[in-house]
Amino acid sequence: IPVDPFDLVIFGATGDLARRKILPSLYRRRQAGQMPEGARVIGAARSKMTRTAYQKSIREALEEFVPEAERTAATVKAFVDCIDYVAVDVTGDGGWQELCGKLRPDVVRAFYLSVAPSLFGTIAEKLAESGLATPDSRIVVEKPLGHDLASAQELNAKLTRHFDEQQIYRIDHYLGKETVQNLMALRFANALFEPLWNAQHIDHVQITVAESIGVEGRGGYYDKSGAMRDMVQNHIMQLLCLTAMEPPARFEPDSVRDEKLKVIRALDPIHVDDTVRGQYRGNGSAGYLEHVENPDSKTESYVALKVQISNWRWAGTPFYLRTGKKLRSRLSEIAVIFKEVPHSIFPEVSNRKGNALIIRLQPDEGITLRMTIKDPGPGGMRLREVPLDMTFADALGDEFDIPDAYERLVMDVIRGNQTLFMRGDEVEAAWAWTDALLAEWQDSPDRPQSYDPGGSGPDDALALLHRDGRRWRDIP
Ligand code: NAD
Repeated sequence: IPVDPFDLVIFGATGDLARRKILPSLYRRRQAGQMPEGARVIGAARSKMTRTAYQKSIREALEEFVPEAERTAATVKAFVDCIDYVAVDVTGDGGWQELCGKLRPDVVRAFYLSVAPSLFGTIAEKLAESGLATPDSRIVVEKPLGHDLASAQELNAKLTRHFDEQQIYRIDHYLGKETVQNLMALRFANALFEPLWNAQHIDHVQITVAESIGVEGRGGYYDKSGAMRDMVQNHIMQLLCLTAMEPPARFEPDSVRDEKLKVIRALDPIHVDDTVRGQYRGNGSAGYLEHVENPDSKTESYVALKVQISNWRWAGTPFYLRTGKKLRSRLSEIAVIFKEVPHSIFPEVSNRKGNALIIRLQPDEGITLRMTIKDPGPGGMRLREVPLDMTFADALGDEFDIPDAYERLVMDVIRGNQTLFMRGDEVEAAWAWTDALLAEWQDSPDRPQSYDPGGSGPDDALALLHRDGRRWRDIP
């Protein structure tokens, strides 16, 4: 179903995010018939460039970032024809009037700020002052949404000075992933899981976001951030919230976001003893410290945390979170590990791990339920564990093409649906929790533990679970 006609202005239209994600995603929606005839995309960036030159650069971006099989000459032409360009240095006065002249009064209007966050406040102000922003306009921003609580509050204040909360779309692209949305469907559209979804039946939860790449060329940026700010405060926190939240009364933006906020507010302050920081060493290739300016940097490229949610549903069930760079493989998953049966009538199975529900975000998006069955054959009542496996690609067939997170999110901006976007108070609550730990680390004389590239992280992270009689799932 096509969305309503729109004018989407992308500030930072010549940048990496716009070229690699936003425009290819819009192209795919055009291909799918969801972007209507009356849709227009207006690129805005500092470079002086003609409309034709910008259109050419977008053709090239599509060639680079959209697989050939998904490109047809007719759709590429139709898509590129709806693109326009205005040179605007957002810190100056030039270009705004020209931009104003390109916007239509009677269509949905959205501004995507694909620029450094230091420019968000300036752009919001200019949009308001120049009359470009109407009471219905939407403004889209993306991480990093602050560096700590104070800067996040400052950023929110700048945005809300000119826009209502209902107009602000804060992207966390993890929320646009199909499997992440599926977590809500799995929990709230099936009668099977919700009765078991609590501390009485769930032993613990593991959330893993492992990357195989290192910081490479991003060392300068990353060293000021670290895994806690770059991954935990936003993406992993969102996964934690969707896993742990109470069922919202309705599938509506504020019902869902209220429940997520309650989870963050119920998090126990985290103690340094329940955390492990790591930094990958060089082993043939450059280690973390060789990619950053400060040779004594204590910034973590890996973090593992034991987190407790103090409410009726989760008291006593820990959530273990881990994320890191230069690990064995690229893997993101949520693993819900159930408790053992209260009394076993069968002989012990060596290596028995018990029931688990694994939600795989990447690779091979899908869901696996680990079950115990009888080992087939005449050898007596021997048990073994098998996966009940649902990989989207297999279950839904070839015609199902998992859309990129940005495809869903950009269309939701146009539809005016904020369910998959973070509210300002959520972001601030997540920072408040994160800040406390960052301050403890800052005061600690300890350095992050070194770990080998291509492995599963520092030894202390294994010990974090061992001391509780548990173990991490393998990173294959
Ligand atoms: P980039 O450096 O590649 O592009 C920046 C864009 O901003 C360029 O188009 C540039 O012309 C424009 N710009 C800079 N100063 C300007 C000014 N004064 N007036 C007008 N335009 C100006 O950056 P990027 O990688 O595209 O990232 C943009 C934002 O998105 C950053 O805040 C980044 O942290 C965030 N982000 C990027 C990615 C990604 O994958 N690249 C992912 C998540 C978040």
